Amino acid sequence: MTNSKEYQVLLYYKYVPIVDPVEYAMEHLQFCNDLELKGRIHVAHEGINGTVSGTVEHTEQYMEAMRNDPRFADMAFKIDKHEGHAFKKMHVRPRKELVTLRLEEDINPKQTTGKYFEPKEFFEAMQDEDTVVLDARNDYEYDLGHFRGAIRPDIETFRELPEWVEKNKDLIEGKRILTYCTGGIRCEKFSGWLVKQGFEDVAQLHGGIVTYGKDPEVQGELWDGQCYVFDERISVPVNQKEHVVVGVDYFDGKPCERYVNCANPECNKQILCSEENEHKYMRGCTHECRVSPRNMYVKEHGLSKEEIQERLDIIEKENMKQEA
Ligand SMILES: [Zn+2]
Repeated sequence: MTNSKEYQVLLYYKYVPIVDPVEYAMEHLQFCNDLELKGRIHVAHEGINGTVSGTVEHTEQYMEAMRNDPRFADMAFKIDKHEGHAFKKMHVRPRKELVTLRLEEDINPKQTTGKYFEPKEFFEAMQDEDTVVLDARNDYEYDLGHFRGAIRPDIETFRELPEWVEKNKDLIEGKRILTYCTGGIRCEKFSGWLVKQGFEDVAQLHGGIVTYGKDPEVQGELWDGQCYVFDERISVPVNQKEHVVVGVDYFDGKPCERYVNCANPECNKQILCSEENEHKYMRGCTHECRVSPRNMYVKEHGLSKEEIQERLDIIEKENMKQEA
């Protein structure tokens, strides 16, 4: 008997045709609600991508039901134990695409994608000098942790990717290209796009970073920092052998792995910041965010005008000291 108070977080995706994503999403939401799951699931004509939390019993029932559907029979689930839910609500949303690359032409990973490397193969390939490792995630994910020596293309959206590749041809041409992301779904298209561009030796980390961290042989080796995840946990550990901190505090540049959102709801920017600096800067990423009338930190702590001014004065004094 499993303890019904134990919880799990599931992460999964599958590129497989779904004829009516809108109808499927509606039915699936009902199914998830019946199992008292919480999380976020996207459904598109090209497949499904989800992360949910629930009791061990309910998540096991969910996986069993999914595997009984021929479309998802071989879908891989990444499973993490967790205390309680990792989400507040349950959303199942129909989407045009599972992953938005915003490239001129969409990539169908069932037709074009990079080779799949298992953790051990990826670990070995990374150490070859004729290899370049590309991170397919966002900057705030990369900043918290990444593979040692990996490059994150300096782009805002994937639409800028062709230009970046053009500019950095020297870096990647003639090399084996390895790509990775959290669970693997983004790399299916990212590596597919690279293959379509004519790069011959492109491979992706099968199962993503989370699978790599659990692999009994590599045990997350060569990963520095933490892995950003899109639920209330915010980050999960990867490297079981050593922990090298790569994140730095937004305010003072000291090692830091603690993400907060800017207290100005109109900004909401994610910043790495110590507890001490959160209080000092009233969780505002700029002066404007600190003095915003909607600053949530000020509300949460019931700061008076005088107290706000006191902190602003300290920050200003320090800025002047630094400039001098
Ligand atoms: Zn801000």
